[in-house]
Amino acid sequence: MKPIAILAPLAGWLTKLEDVPDPVFAEGMMGSGIAIDPVDGLLTAPCDAEVVLVAAASHSVTLRAVDGAELLIHIGLETVALAGRGFDVRVKEGQQVRAGDALIEFEMDSVGLQAKSLVTPIVLTNEGGFRFITEATGRLVQRGEPIGHIEPAQEMVSTSRHSGDLFETHGVVQLEHGLHARPAGRISDSAKHFRADVTLSAGDRTASARSPVAIMALDVRHGDPINISARGEQAQEAVQAILRVIEDRDTAQRSAGAAPVVAAALASNEIAGVSALAGAAVGTAKWWRRSTLDVPEQGKGEAEERAAFEAAKAQVHKQLQDLAAGTDGAGSEIARAHMSLLQDEAVNAEAYAQISAGKSAAYAWRAAMASAVETLRGSGNAMLRERVADLEDLSDRTVRALLGDKAEPDRKLPDGAVLLAEDLLPSELLSVDRTKLAGICIGGAGPTSHVAIIAASLGVPTLVGMGARLGKVADGARVLIDASAGKLVIGPCAEQEAEALSLAAALTGHTGACATSDGHAVALLANLGSLADVETAVAAGAEGCGLLRTEFLFLDRNQAPTAEEQAEAYQAISDALGDRPLTIRTLDIGGDKPVPFLDLPAEENPALGVRGIRTSLARPDLLDAQLRAVLAVRRTAPLKLMIPMVSSIAEFRLVRERVSAIDAAASIKLGVMIETPAAALLADQFAAEADFLSIGSNDLAQYALAMDRTNPALAASVDGLHPAVLRLIETAAQAADRQGKPISVCGGLASEPAGAIILIGLEIHELSAVPATLAGVRAAIAGVSLDDCRSLAERALRAESAAEVRMIAAELVTAASKGDR
Ligand code: PEP
Ligand code: MG
Repeated sequence: MKPIAILAPLAGWLTKLEDVPDPVFAEGMMGSGIAIDPVDGLLTAPCDAEVVLVAAASHSVTLRAVDGAELLIHIGLETVALAGRGFDVRVKEGQQVRAGDALIEFEMDSVGLQAKSLVTPIVLTNEGGFRFITEATGRLVQRGEPIGHIEPAQEMVSTSRHSGDLFETHGVVQLEHGLHARPAGRISDSAKHFRADVTLSAGDRTASARSPVAIMALDVRHGDPINISARGEQAQEAVQAILRVIEDRDTAQRSAGAAPVVAAALASNEIAGVSALAGAAVGTAKWWRRSTLDVPEQGKGEAEERAAFEAAKAQVHKQLQDLAAGTDGAGSEIARAHMSLLQDEAVNAEAYAQISAGKSAAYAWRAAMASAVETLRGSGNAMLRERVADLEDLSDRTVRALLGDKAEPDRKLPDGAVLLAEDLLPSELLSVDRTKLAGICIGGAGPTSHVAIIAASLGVPTLVGMGARLGKVADGARVLIDASAGKLVIGPCAEQEAEALSLAAALTGHTGACATSDGHAVALLANLGSLADVETAVAAGAEGCGLLRTEFLFLDRNQAPTAEEQAEAYQAISDALGDRPLTIRTLDIGGDKPVPFLDLPAEENPALGVRGIRTSLARPDLLDAQLRAVLAVRRTAPLKLMIPMVSSIAEFRLVRERVSAIDAAASIKLGVMIETPAAALLADQFAAEADFLSIGSNDLAQYALAMDRTNPALAASVDGLHPAVLRLIETAAQAADRQGKPISVCGGLASEPAGAIILIGLEIHELSAVPATLAGVRAAIAGVSLDDCRSLAERALRAESAAEVRMIAAELVTAASKGDR
């Protein structure tokens, strides 16, 4: 078979398939390929082919080229929902077409406005016998320009043999990108399950199958021969399992039920992102670029390098101490976390070993940190992978100290800077001049990364997870960051700017009592994570604290805080809040928020593991200390305690018993967080016994939708506005109402205007939100009546997707926020 040239079926921006904001395509579940963000509305045939299928909704077409390769072209994302509106199909099933023949015409404007995105994947769906080799992306193409070719796939040829206790297999790697990080991680995970020592070799390089770093270092590419050999009891099983991974072409990712990603309808000068803090600003793009620090490999002698290393660490420790003292909230906690990473025993031992072997201190430290980074990257744990930024940050900081702070790139921000970075280290963000900062856009960070948390605490609109398309923005470009709408606009027009700015202006200065336009009062409280947050919350008009996350006292330490230490911290927060109510949450730790002193075993599925109340019940010593500390708080204003991650009433009763055992006369109000579908469905049982309910919509969405909230690839999909989540909330709200018990929401849904309005419509009249979002939420609520909220909630409950809820809420929310109603 001769290769088949694939010609651009649309004019537009040629994009990697993995950058398409929908995991169904981005993760190759439909097959491999490429995508085009179109600039016109005529889809033509990319090669000579037969039309095999035209979707009933006219939004996609499948073609079969000569020799049987099948290509699916899908105009836009989630366009099936348009049910054919805006599409004009020009061909019939069974028809033969020539490259360049018209297939489907579509109305760019109307489809673009209603669809999630116009980006059009072109995918080879029957990959078994073929491969789609694509051309370089990130550029504009004209219709008819070559964008790749299809050729027959090579078979993975494998031959196996036994010799003594050695079992080995030879083969040719078929994975499109060779043994890169993801397959390397899967191979090492797989190897760990067998009683066998497995070695991979390619050319003269060998690697233990248990080391993802070593596997990646083999640098095995598509088509390279590889040898897998193993010794031990389960040698054959291990080799076969690894062979399956190598042959398997990302099966794990393709099998998962894919959920649509919510992405705004985008014009070609717009780039989508996930909002880490809503808001809008117009400013000047400023790229944050890293210096490359050259370090000498050879040292000047062990004693000298050791002394230099000690001095540099002392200097960095001092810098971090100053940073911790000079910033507040998340920034200070992260600086403290870096201090403990600086002392990491394993990393230090490796660095010292390299220094003893004659390497320079800078080389030794960087190498030791790099291997720690690779270990984290190779782990399947999204939370750990996000900690990579912390390690890289600390690595650079220490190397700079050793080199004498050389080679700093231009870091001066213009006034009103919208900072752009492929990745930004926490300390880099902490070091920028906040007075110049108008917004932050990050290509790679996940929504739970430290840098996203710091960005949100700086209070400027922030988008994360923007992918490689951020690279389109030039330094100095005028940009509009509209984090509320989840997009960055390059060269916005005057109307767009005016609209976004008037919205932003309308959101500031709303600090009075919170009520709907017809005077229905809503209690608007703040979520707090430390004492430092109280000031921001009170300044933003918080009526109290509806969620104090007590984890701040437990993370990044080697032993649990004592009851006295905790009592002091809670008392300080209570005092700072004065006569405003305070709700403390018991420890929500374990699972994906590991703490060294807990020594819990590693879990396959941390989100479904020992966390929240399960950890507290597994460690009654911790629970008792925390309960004692909370009961010791002296305050006249209301003090409540609530329990996270509850799934049955027995858990609540156990905590209540512990409270009575510690203080039989305790009058503290004890509540339950509704964060699991089980708790929502059994809310009547909880409402009957607990003093109040509080909905954690972040976890409720995670568990209802079966989507890991720490997975950046699902960032836009784990959406509390999904109708399934809203129905669970409605169930809980009705149960609370029947029992006459108060119910509030403290998850992220309460921190966004659309969520707040719908929650009020579901008869929830107490919301606890991120301090920086209070003004926006208050402004939106002030612009709607209770009836508006109720009718929006009613429609939202009947919607089919979170995207539909967002669409029906958008008009009301925008008008309300601007005060146009
Ligand atoms: C939630 O799950 O919505 C919540 C408030 O708890 P956290 O985000 O701390 O898990
Ligand atoms: Mg939670």
